[in-house]
Amino acid sequence: MAHIVVVEDEQQLAHLIAQTLRDDGHQTEIIRDGQVALDRLTGPGRISPDLIILDLGLPGVDGLTICRRIRRERIVPIVMLTAKSSELDKVLGLELGADDYLTKPVSLRELQARVSAILRRVEMMRVESRTEDDSTKPITYHDLSVDPLGREVVVGDQEVNLTAKEFDLLYLLASHPGRVFSRTYLLDRLWGDGYSGFERTVDTHIQRLRRKLGGSGSVADHIVTLWGVGYKYDRVNSATSDPGDAPDTVTTTVR
Ligand code: CA
Repeated sequence: MAHIVVVEDEQQLAHLIAQTLRDDGHQTEIIRDGQVALDRLTGPGRISPDLIILDLGLPGVDGLTICRRIRRERIVPIVMLTAKSSELDKVLGLELGADDYLTKPVSLRELQARVSAILRRVEMMRVESRTEDDSTKPITYHDLSVDPLGREVVVGDQEVNLTAKEFDLLYLLASHPGRVFSRTYLLDRLWGDGYSGFERTVDTHIQRLRRKLGGSGSVADHIVTLWGVGYKYDRVNSATSDPGDAPDTVTTTVR
């Protein structure tokens, strides 16, 4: 969930956009006046939304000025809305530091897609900067230890042979315990653009990973499925595991 500020003076459009974003699980706030937007989004006591949707033509202060002022102070994703579809507006908006733009009439589906793409990019950058710091730190929980330098996984006293992708998946999940990763995020992060839409790829790898870790009743239970959402590594609870995930094909090898 992200906190998104919608700066738009057309009441109906502002409400449509806000409602659409709320339907996607975000928290929204509408600002209709340029000067109010400037006061709320810049200077001392400013609010810190995760993303700003900013109309170009506003009463009080125009969108370009607001964009420029926000950019002087900080980095926050900005999506510009513009009534004029001329290239100049687009270029102007982008040069001023908007991350994306949409021309009116605004397609709500496109807006949803752009917003989630930007939020995903931001999330990815955050995790990456965190992961870079810890990317050589070995992990030891319960019976599981993961050594990123030697790319070695040990369960109990048995070494587990994982493929590169299975290893990366386990290390990413286990190095952020409790954090939920969506399938889309995992695909983007570990497989790259070419795989977009093949969320099943993630499921298949998770299933194989669980089996290799020992199947249900083992440390594999710490890899938790959140139905319709994604996966997380749960350090405390050994909650759910796939029903079809019986430990019949354990492929651990004794060191
Ligand atoms: Ca307007």
